[in-house]
Amino acid sequence: MQVSKQGEPNYDWSILDSERYYGLKNWGVGYFSIDSEGFLEVRPRRDSQAIRIHEIVAEALSQGYQLPLTIRIQDLLRTRVEELNEQFNAAIKEEGYEGRYRGVFPIKVNQLREVVEEIQAAGKPYHFGLECGSKPELMIALAMHNDQQSLIICNGYKDDSFIRLALTGRLMSKEIYLVVEQLSEVRRIIEISREMGVQPLIGFRIKLSSNGEGKWASSSGDNAKFGLSSSEVMEAVRIVKSSSLENSLRLIHFHIGSQVPDIQTIKKATVEATRFFCELSKLGFPMELIDVGGGLGIDYDGSSSNYESSMNYTQREYVRDIVYTIKYVCSAAGVTVPDIVSESGRAIVAPHSVLVTNVCDRISKKSDSNILINNKTGNPLLQELESILINDHDSSLLERYHDAQQKREEANNLFNLGFLSLSDKADADATYWKICQELLQLAQKQRYTPDELESLPVQIAEKYVCNFSIFQSLLDHWACDQLFPIVPLHRLNEAPEVEATLVDVTCDSEGKIDTFTDIEDERSTLRLHKLKEQEAYYLGIFMVGAYQDIMGDFHNLFGKVDEVHVCLEDNKVDGFYIENSIKGSSINDVLCFTQYDGQRLSQMMKKQLDLAINSELIKPVEGTSLLAQYNNLLQSSTYLGTKNT
Ligand SMILES: *Cc1c(COP(=O)(O)O)cnc(C)c1O
Repeated sequence: MQVSKQGEPNYDWSILDSERYYGLKNWGVGYFSIDSEGFLEVRPRRDSQAIRIHEIVAEALSQGYQLPLTIRIQDLLRTRVEELNEQFNAAIKEEGYEGRYRGVFPIKVNQLREVVEEIQAAGKPYHFGLECGSKPELMIALAMHNDQQSLIICNGYKDDSFIRLALTGRLMSKEIYLVVEQLSEVRRIIEISREMGVQPLIGFRIKLSSNGEGKWASSSGDNAKFGLSSSEVMEAVRIVKSSSLENSLRLIHFHIGSQVPDIQTIKKATVEATRFFCELSKLGFPMELIDVGGGLGIDYDGSSSNYESSMNYTQREYVRDIVYTIKYVCSAAGVTVPDIVSESGRAIVAPHSVLVTNVCDRISKKSDSNILINNKTGNPLLQELESILINDHDSSLLERYHDAQQKREEANNLFNLGFLSLSDKADADATYWKICQELLQLAQKQRYTPDELESLPVQIAEKYVCNFSIFQSLLDHWACDQLFPIVPLHRLNEAPEVEATLVDVTCDSEGKIDTFTDIEDERSTLRLHKLKEQEAYYLGIFMVGAYQDIMGDFHNLFGKVDEVHVCLEDNKVDGFYIENSIKGSSINDVLCFTQYDGQRLSQMMKKQLDLAINSELIKPVEGTSLLAQYNNLLQSSTYLGTKNT
């Protein structure tokens, strides 16, 4: 490890060191890398065309957009769709599999119209379809669906109007499947389709007995919220047969949860579901599709392990295992293989979007060189701390640590009892942190760090205050400890010398990031660059395209962030343009969410200012200008502006 003394630039650091430290070769999988000048770049097609993300930010700022900023790389989204389809097609060819791949995009993973449109456009040659799990999503799917050869799959709990709407799709001869989640839905589907005079297409979601793994494992297993148990399948079969709708049941579906870390889980589930498929086929149903759901992971930490933020398989392996397993089980049962549907959401959309935030301040415990420790009073306690710092008794690390802790506690007690002045307490604190800092540097040079010192890096880490809200933009980090790779967008040719954790701008102590991805295990601090007075410092939070956009909330009334959609400019190695942009919430927007009305608040404000004018607290011209400021703010962003906005 490179430990450089404070203040000395570390010349031993190269771009390769940054690539290694921030794991770009691992989670970046050919999409993200560092250019020769230390800027982070994206290669949307994994080829020579690269865009500096820092330049996208500069362009967006020059067009009047503000940080935090979501950047969507449209070509990357396209690449993800193409890669998944190509991989399935290649595996099908290699295996001599006699069915097709007919993937669908699960809208719930990212509902944004531009995202769905891009996926549809990229998926057109493959007849890539849509999956929906609620009425609003079905309304999107029906209206946006523009390829009669692609599927629409309806999952989730369904009421009569959901079923009716889906069957409207049948009337338009769309291949739209109602996947039965609960037994009661079978009867409703039969009844409503009779009423409408249309033949439904039905799938059964199976409650697998093989359990999932990972954070979202409860989507399967005996206690899952969804799907039919084997006895319910038999009952559903009876109902379908007695209604002479044998021709409608054609699909078996399962979904074992998102971000499945272990390939064995997927293989087992595929075997079990294919067995259901074969049995139903033998019972005389014209079975033609197996839908393997979602679950295909993203290797957020790049460790290729079965750790929660990772996956121990590649996408190619996933695809091949599914094709192979279905073929194997079907051929053992002597049943014709089905077409294969998958509902990969996360794997398609996670990489395409980057959240950019600026570090707007730092909270430091370390005594800066400009905070002088001046023991003017000659307090003996301070002298003792001083002597621990210079180590004039030649003590061990641990001994010095214990002594320092004891002296600091004494200082706190004396302060509370009124025997130590504030300025002496400040000196005691500063010296204590200086000692910790020195102990840490010494410990890092040793092979072995005593346990008690292991928390030191976290204790003395700086806190970088980042202009965003975890609750709005990174909900899964807070809600389920999901990790996302975080990398500075520039200065990657300089050594990062500050061990830091991140805090957001909400007034919630939970609004922080103090676990970071690492190839081995996790990190509790992230090494970042020293802030410069005159230059903004930008961090990119990567792989945030799945789920985060819609699940965020308005905690502290921080609203939606600005976003720009970026496309590659053809025939230019580094060309890009902002195809589209969406302004984030204004203060007025978030106030409306909570039943306030900006205009009314402004009137109320005016009344109060008038009172202040009448009482001669302020002059009328001041009142006018203060009100104008208030009104301007209503239209502005909820996040921190730069110094003079
Ligand atoms: C959420 C969900 C998906 C998407 O899962 P990913 O792991 O994001 O690919 C697919 N199918 C169903 C039924 C879901 O509920």
